[in-house]
Amino acid sequence: MSEERPTPRIETLAVHSGARRPGPEGSVVFPIYQSTVYTYDEGAGYHDIKYLRLSSTPSQLYLHDKLAALEGAEAALATSSGMAAVTGCLMTQVKAGDHILAGDSLYGGTHTFLKDHAPVHGVTTTFVDATKPESWKAAIKPTTRVFLVESITNPLMRVARHRDVVQFARENRLVTIIDNTFATPVNFRPIPFGYDLAFHSATKYLNGHSDLVAGCVVGSKAMVEKVRHTANHYGGILDPHAGYLLARGIKTIALRVRQQQSTAGALARSLASNPKVAAVNYPGLETHPDHRHAREILAGFGGMLSFRLKGGLAAVERFIAAVTIPYHAPSLGGVETLVVRPAVTSHGGIPKEEREAIGITDDLVRVSCGIEATEDLVDDFTQAIGKA
Ligand code: PLP
Repeated sequence: MSEERPTPRIETLAVHSGARRPGPEGSVVFPIYQSTVYTYDEGAGYHDIKYLRLSSTPSQLYLHDKLAALEGAEAALATSSGMAAVTGCLMTQVKAGDHILAGDSLYGGTHTFLKDHAPVHGVTTTFVDATKPESWKAAIKPTTRVFLVESITNPLMRVARHRDVVQFARENRLVTIIDNTFATPVNFRPIPFGYDLAFHSATKYLNGHSDLVAGCVVGSKAMVEKVRHTANHYGGILDPHAGYLLARGIKTIALRVRQQQSTAGALARSLASNPKVAAVNYPGLETHPDHRHAREILAGFGGMLSFRLKGGLAAVERFIAAVTIPYHAPSLGGVETLVVRPAVTSHGGIPKEEREAIGITDDLVRVSCGIEATEDLVDDFTQAIGKA
């Protein structure tokens, strides 16, 4: 009789998943295999050859196993950036003449890809409010193939109606693709939930140290293999050095994200009670429009929030000049707290009227909480808002 053992929890998976036991030469840490090429196994097909660009070498396979286990998926593929993961997922699912349904507050780079680059390949997109299922039916066409959303949106922290997305896609035979960068597998695992493909900018929380650019795709073996075949020719694969750092970063993701979201919650509450603050966007706040849904779907509310000051852009500029702990920098998910204005960074490519229509105003400040002491950050934000 086989002994039933519980599935390891995320903390254990983050440290141990993918590990070869015993490791090569008895190593506890999986080494970097730098060789681009390996001796040929007679009978191997082109896509099975061990070659770095084909994402089939030992360091890459170790990382794939780790990522797949972390996300509760059958398979994973590491890519050279989050954008390589976005394009890898999308371009395997659509062809000229096809149509994509997408959430309307996607990461700026994804939005621009869909608006400016996908049409060059004959693929069009309709953007819908992913929190309003009643609006989706009117937007689909006979050629719609994909429904693309983010787990928590950037920078307004809206939470798509994930159950409805999955059900709607099943009813309409669409492939569901989700960007899980903001929620992280600590808070949401889209593949066991019912999504077909999930991807990350691993540059962010998965690595967690703001020192590499990477991405990944997770899903069923068949779907990930299809993405790998496409990536084999588009070329956006991950170098083993970056892959090594990514695997190292992943080991502490559960600790980091818990600290980051505990700080985000405290900071959001402090901001919400500050009379100089006009609005706070954090799904952990009861006033957030998606709070109840987020509580039901997510294991935690994440380490990202955004806010506006009553004094508008001028006050925001004074605030940014006055904070001492956060860096004024884009990107997110690292151990250092960062503050930034999405209107001039991640969403700078979206025309002002379009941007403002979805709530990304010039005076919106986005915060990526790091792992500094919560009290120090709350005190620093409070003193800086006092000067704003
Ligand atoms: N998805 C989200 C939510 C992001 O924030 C980003 C980058 O900021 C990307 C995708 C693209 O990732 P990368 O910069 O690693 O290509």
